[in-house]
Amino acid sequence: MGIDIKYVCDRCKHSQDTDEQMWWVSLHINNKMHTGSYGAAAKPEHSKLWCRKCTDHFHLTPQPLEKRDLTIPPTFEIVLENLISDMVANALDNQ
Ligand SMILES: [Zn+2]
Repeated sequence: MGIDIKYVCDRCKHSQDTDEQMWWVSLHINNKMHTGSYGAAAKPEHSKLWCRKCTDHFHLTPQPLEKRDLTIPPTFEIVLENLISDMVANALDNQ
């Protein structure tokens, strides 16, 4: 008898045996006048674990410097708007 760990994407429910290419997604805010950062992810329930496909969908996947796409990325407002639209669509689908 052993322990079987599955990593499950909170958005699309993709599951896999390792945490490779799984990303913790949360919202943080910083201000240079204050030390540290204020994160909405202060508690584990304020973060979501997403698969690579989902983080790519919202252009959130960090890229190594040598592989960065130098085209202009979507603005924060567009990324946030897409996230909210996705959450509303999921909520309506689950009614
Ligand atoms: Zn996913």
